[in-house]
Amino acid sequence: MANARTTADLKEAVAAHVSSHGEPAIELARAALSHPETGYKEIKTAAATAAAIRSLGLEVREDIAVTGMTAILRGGSPGPNIAILAELDALPVPGHPNADPDTTAAHACAHHCQLGNMLAAAIGLRAPGVLESLSGSVTLMVVPAEEYVEIEWRNEQRMAGRIEFLGGKPEFVRLGELDDVDICMMTHITTEQPHDGFGVGGTNTGLVAKFIKYRGVKAHAGGAPHLGINALNAAHLAIAGIHAQRETYKDDDTVRIHPIITRGGSVVNAVPDDVRMETFVRGASIDAIKSANEKVDRALRAGALAVGATVDVTTLPGYLPLAPDTRLTALHRANAEALVGVDRVHEFGRRGGSTDMGDLTQIMPGIHPYVGGAVGRSNHAEDMIVDDYNLAVLDAGKAMAMTVVDLLTGDASEAKRVIAEHRPAMTKEQYLTLQRSFLSERSYTE
Ligand SMILES: [Zn+2]
Ligand SMILES: [Zn+2]
Repeated sequence: MANARTTADLKEAVAAHVSSHGEPAIELARAALSHPETGYKEIKTAAATAAAIRSLGLEVREDIAVTGMTAILRGGSPGPNIAILAELDALPVPGHPNADPDTTAAHACAHHCQLGNMLAAAIGLRAPGVLESLSGSVTLMVVPAEEYVEIEWRNEQRMAGRIEFLGGKPEFVRLGELDDVDICMMTHITTEQPHDGFGVGGTNTGLVAKFIKYRGVKAHAGGAPHLGINALNAAHLAIAGIHAQRETYKDDDTVRIHPIITRGGSVVNAVPDDVRMETFVRGASIDAIKSANEKVDRALRAGALAVGATVDVTTLPGYLPLAPDTRLTALHRANAEALVGVDRVHEFGRRGGSTDMGDLTQIMPGIHPYVGGAVGRSNHAEDMIVDDYNLAVLDAGKAMAMTVVDLLTGDASEAKRVIAEHRPAMTKEQYLTLQRSFLSERSYTE
């Protein structure tokens, strides 16, 4: 080793460098906030992110999974490769103060601050003398399309062969971008408590997504409804059927099913013949998702059966449950506590949301901690606003960079221990096979 600085010295240098040189990270977050874009359409956000990474003197590989990119920081000697991820996308949230007036896209999940905290981590690791003391590398991995929205449009992109998976990280896995990654981490922003600290550990549900189309028969709504088949009534009965199944789900399975109707007919004076729905079927385990998905399909068919309509059901691979690595969680937690104090780091429990970071934690050691600094009812609400960029961007970046130092200092013994003790739930090949097994396109008419 060229340098005898201790891990503690290096972490102090990293944190100090983010404090003194971290302004570009906040600027990147604010720039992304000003031009929110939904998944696989993050053109301006990607350009701003690539420029910000390049300004650190790093090479950027762009256009991965449409808008994604990677850049590598190399340590003084070879060793494990740690990915620090950030998500590019916003989601449609009409009424959000920073929403794009044309698309309604808004950063109501604060992914703009992930771009910032990833960049802050990179800035910290470039503090004088730090990278030279590390054995291994860090890949900045900027991914598109975490919010699983605009399902109909993304499914068209899939059928046109532009993507296979509707989420960005499954695409990155498919494209081999994770093949040489050993450990992964990212930090998500939340409105949950503690507002002035971090939430660590915890799990998320996984999901499959469904695009549903009821086909009926048009006829005059007042004059000749007996000649029509009402696709909206079919959808209504299907939703009632889904609700009637709720008592059959076990609490521990955290099943969440929340359909929306994206098209409810064409005109009010004709019997609705084209009604479209989207839904997620979420659950805490793959078995829970599969079982709930079968019940939902039964309810969807029942709606069509009752009124004599046809239903086309497309089921799409979604995300797998989050399973954070406990040793990594402990390392990150200690760094978060050093930055904000023990009282301001909470242990999170079982959560109902989903993320494709879950997919990565099924195939390698990874963490997906949360940081506060945001206010509002919850993420995805029109009042979700980041009000503490120092915490959400700079402190979150510091905690990740300090964790990298823990992992890669010396001969990277800590990273090697994490990798050796981690038992991935599946291999990349098993993961892709499982995800592909969820895809189905079925039509039902009695
Ligand atoms: Zn979100
Ligand atoms: Zn999010």
